[in-house]
Amino acid sequence: MDKARVEHVFFDLDNTLWDHRGNSEVTLEQMFKDYEITKKYNVTFEEWHEVFYDINEKLWEDLSEAKISKDDLRERRFKDPFAHFDIHEEGLGLEFEDEYLARMGKMKGTVEGAQEILEYLSDKYTIHIITNGFIEVSEDKLKNADLLKYITTLTCADEIGVRKPDNRIFELANNKAGSTKENAVIIGDDWVADVIGGTNFGWQAIFLDCFNEKPSLEGVPNITSLFELKELL
Ligand SMILES: [Mg+2]
Repeated sequence: MDKARVEHVFFDLDNTLWDHRGNSEVTLEQMFKDYEITKKYNVTFEEWHEVFYDINEKLWEDLSEAKISKDDLRERRFKDPFAHFDIHEEGLGLEFEDEYLARMGKMKGTVEGAQEILEYLSDKYTIHIITNGFIEVSEDKLKNADLLKYITTLTCADEIGVRKPDNRIFELANNKAGSTKENAVIIGDDWVADVIGGTNFGWQAIFLDCFNEKPSLEGVPNITSLFELKELL
């Protein structure tokens, strides 16, 4: 990659700066206790969470391919895993969904190095967020994790109803930021949404390879820790 022309740095939010996996698991485990799910239905959190995780991932995949709507995802991501364990309590799925989003917005867990790296980068570049996450919670996540102070613009896919890797979301982010295809780089943990999407649009990209999958694209550095950004930018 060519560091010399970078002026704007776009970060993906979930699992790139904000620890979505960790925050989600802590939130759901607490909700499981508060709703006494194990006691009422004889399902452990661990066995349920495994099913929830797979269903949720699949629904997000379907959403990014526009096979389902955001409302479908919100309606089904708790209802379906509960149904898997024969729990059909009316309204429980949606209640979980609303409560989950409300609680997630208050969680503070960040990816290791997020604060330090934003502190470092914000001296040299203008920092932005481009996320497929819900608009209802993205700003709260940044605020509560104390990251909002580094961020100049926040672009949520919900604003125009298309998600990364769709070109239009990058166009919107570029317009909001006042950046160009030449002077921007995106850093994200989703190979297709962030790296393929970003480079197809014309930005440079850096892949945060959380699971050490080592995909490769010419000119795109893979990193396994945010700290490595100090060498690249
Ligand atoms: Mg992500």
